[in-house]
Amino acid sequence: MGQTQRVSGGLGLVRRAQEQDVAILQAHDGADAMIDQRKSLLALKREARHAVQQRGHRLGAWIPSHAGRACAECAVCGAWVTVNRYPMPNEIEVGGSAVAIECRVKA
Ligand SMILES: [Zn+2]
Repeated sequence: MGQTQRVSGGLGLVRRAQEQDVAILQAHDGADAMIDQRKSLLALKREARHAVQQRGHRLGAWIPSHAGRACAECAVCGAWVTVNRYPMPNEIEVGGSAVAIECRVKA
């Protein structure tokens, strides 16, 4: 009986952890619809645009992809930049070839 209780207690912990994961994901989904979170995405876009302009790129329009993400391309050389409002531990907020390399055609 003692062992059965321990197992069910363990399952309870797993279930509680899963519920927390769901709550975090739902919070992110909800946050995307909030104006202050959109401002954060705009701030990332401003940061990214500034960074690629330093390398001589001329960024085109932003294309939204997944929730909290967008990407854009240089109109001159086709290098890309991406912004991610919710980066995973192995991802970054602002990245792409336009951030890393100079534009092919410098002004
Ligand atoms: Zn370029």
